[in-house]
Amino acid sequence: MEFVEHRQIMILGGGPAGFTAALYAARADLKPLLVTGMTLYGQASQTHLIENYPGFPEGVGGSDLGQLFENQAKRFGAEIVFDMVQCVRLDQRPFEVCLSDTMYTTDSLIICMGADPRKLGVPGEREFTGRGVSYCATCDGWFYKNKDIHMVGGGDSALEDALFLTRFVNSITIIHRRDTLRAGAILEKRALENPKINFIWDTVVKEIIGEETVKQLLVENVITGQQETIPTDGVFVSIGNTPNTAVLEGQLKLTSRGTIEVDSRMETSVKGVFAAGEIADPYYRQVVTSAGLGAAAAISATHYLQELSK
Ligand code: NAP
Repeated sequence: MEFVEHRQIMILGGGPAGFTAALYAARADLKPLLVTGMTLYGQASQTHLIENYPGFPEGVGGSDLGQLFENQAKRFGAEIVFDMVQCVRLDQRPFEVCLSDTMYTTDSLIICMGADPRKLGVPGEREFTGRGVSYCATCDGWFYKNKDIHMVGGGDSALEDALFLTRFVNSITIIHRRDTLRAGAILEKRALENPKINFIWDTVVKEIIGEETVKQLLVENVITGQQETIPTDGVFVSIGNTPNTAVLEGQLKLTSRGTIEVDSRMETSVKGVFAAGEIADPYYRQVVTSAGLGAAAAISATHYLQELSK
């Protein structure tokens, strides 16, 4: 592994929190280095149209917004590296961050590595991922033209994805484990009124069955316990997210929900290490709140570095 250089500040993660932190750190003249991770612009990049980010009354595409974030951060001198964080060492100062082939040291860190889609954990799920099991409607929707498919989940993402998929599919049936949705009122109304969207309530998927591709789902009614197999051309899973904390294991305090614990200044249990966005936010998880928390983390990191240099 080649040691590259020392930095005052590094930002891990290239979603709304990371790019906003990079913008603020760049404008504080800290010449931040941002490591994007594999999903450039984060989970928001996979949203076809973001309708609740202020300043865009007609909505804005997820990756278009990400590109704008990147352009703005770069304009003030942020440096962007498209790579994966392989290890982070917080038990020494400066901190160490290793990427695929290179290693950096840094005086401060802002961790914005977001979250990944939660898995169902049922037989067939892993086997058929990419062959009828998908976690990304905007990525894979096109492959389901005129098909009859299913969606698991009952939150904003499941409904938003189902509504997006109606432009391709013949029908989409949402399988939800309760009889009430967890989503916002507007999305709920749109989904319930859409003729291509059906619902199966109080039901969970027990197994995903297929040959080359997915053909059936084994489902169970959680109230009666009754099981049945239903035919399907594919299943989208949208049941929330798991924070990406694996490379930090044992080095930072986490909350009971698996997010990084931060104080009101976005500082973690290690001084000089800050966190923002979905990796540290179990409550809001919006593009606008992630961006706001990224700005807050960068302001706090700037104050920390000022104190350090005294
Ligand atoms: P979420 O709000 O956590 O919803 C996850 C859904 O999946 C819930 O309905 C949950 O059921 C269900 N679920 C969880 N684990 C399951 C399992 N093992 N088997 C079956 N079902 C399971 O996640 P999200 O929809 O991804 O949204 C994440 C955050 O982003 C939320 O804060 C949301 O408001 C926000 N968001 C906002 C927008 C928007 O405003 N346009 C769009 C997308 C996301 P229960 O309801 O029974 O818990």
